[in-house]
Amino acid sequence: MDLTFSVQDEAFRARFRAWLEEAMAEYKEVMRAGGGNPLEQSRVWQAKLYEAGYLGMAWPRAYGGQEASLTEQVIVSEELARAKAPGTINTIGLTIAGPTIVQHGTEAQKQRFLPKILTAEELWCQGFSEPGAGSDLPALRTRAELKDDHFVVNGQKVWTSGAFFSNWCALLVRTDPSAPKRKGITYLLCDMKSPGIEVRPLRNAGGGSHFCEVFFDDVKIPRENMVGELHGGWQIARSTLEHERSGLSGVIALEGNLERLWQLASTIQRGDHKAIDEVMVRHQLVQMWFEKEGLRYLGFRNLSAQISGSGAGVSGSLGKLVNSQLRQKMASLGLEIAGPLASVAKKSPHVLDRGRWQAGYFDALGYSIGGGTSEIMHNAIAEGVLGLPHSADQ
Ligand SMILES: Cc1cc2nc3c(=O)[nH]c(=O)nc-3n(C[C@H](O)[C@H](O)[C@H](O)COP(=O)(O)OP(=O)(O)OC[C@H]3O[C@@H](n4cnc5c(N)ncnc54)[C@H](O)[C@@H]3O)c2cc1C
Repeated sequence: MDLTFSVQDEAFRARFRAWLEEAMAEYKEVMRAGGGNPLEQSRVWQAKLYEAGYLGMAWPRAYGGQEASLTEQVIVSEELARAKAPGTINTIGLTIAGPTIVQHGTEAQKQRFLPKILTAEELWCQGFSEPGAGSDLPALRTRAELKDDHFVVNGQKVWTSGAFFSNWCALLVRTDPSAPKRKGITYLLCDMKSPGIEVRPLRNAGGGSHFCEVFFDDVKIPRENMVGELHGGWQIARSTLEHERSGLSGVIALEGNLERLWQLASTIQRGDHKAIDEVMVRHQLVQMWFEKEGLRYLGFRNLSAQISGSGAGVSGSLGKLVNSQLRQKMASLGLEIAGPLASVAKKSPHVLDRGRWQAGYFDALGYSIGGGTSEIMHNAIAEGVLGLPHSADQ
């Protein structure tokens, strides 16, 4: 395993880093001058990245992508995280729907959808989970009947992140109820403005309304919006889930969290000493640093495997599991160090770090569920790494 980047890669990194520094300074200036609501601000940032040629790094040039090497893709993600750059708005479009269309879409779908995902002109959500079909996704029941040149969809999705602002949805539906459950599913691209769709935001434990219930009542979707074969959606969905898991490793974001945790511990006074002076606090911080470094080397191993043409295997599940556990440990330690200040409401003038530790704690819980729960990751690792027998129906 070679852990060094080539001279060309390092030159690319230096160019991107210089561009990023300037672009972030300009962007902050626009925001200071009152540049729109948070959604608009994220669109502006995404468009800036796209115009400079640093978005859609793996996508074909013909549809607005960069066809960059794997190492360049990694360098761009690393540098964005290191600079604490603003997030892009179209996460599901960029990491799930777009890569699925690149891999399985028709020529017309690629031309129609991919450029607008990159420019954030069209935002996407993912309509997979249902009440009764989460971990056991093949049990989904939202029904689509093919009538001439369109499908008619009836049913309900749940936990659909960002459905309330999305223009399009990557949707899984049951098209053959009589077939074995993995064989009767079809993958559709659904216009969220279609008549018959109702979106109801759900309030989460942290007080946000990020995800939604989505109801479909005789919603018409043109047949040309089907991805892959009729009843062949499960294989496509599996590749979508791989995109989701492989995009969840974010070691550098963890590094930022750890840094803030260290600063917090160095600031909080406990009696006659700072929290950082306590052995148990230092011990936990160092342990987290080791785990974060372990994740970094797992990332390098995956990268080497991908470059040499052998897939990353279950490493995506391993990375997702450890990453979500580490986020939770960091969030819990943040609350513990903050002590009584952890219970101060976000709007109070006495709140610590603008409520980051409380919000982080609730967000961290979601990471161990979204994109496949920790138990499901354990199952995948048990089967793929330890060679244990297949878990019931996963
Ligand atoms: C923040 C967040 C964002 C999300 N965004 C989206 C989205 O945009 N689109 C979308 O479609 N979905 C989304 N989801 C839904 C997510 O994919 C599901 O919540 C997840 O797959 C779990 O399904 P479930 O909630 O139905 O729980 P269940 O599958 O009912 O699981 C309940 C419990 O049983 C355990 N369990 C289930 N089966 C097994 C097994 N075989 N072995 C061991 N334990 C098992 C689970 O680990 C869990 O603890 C999101 C979820 C979260 C938290």
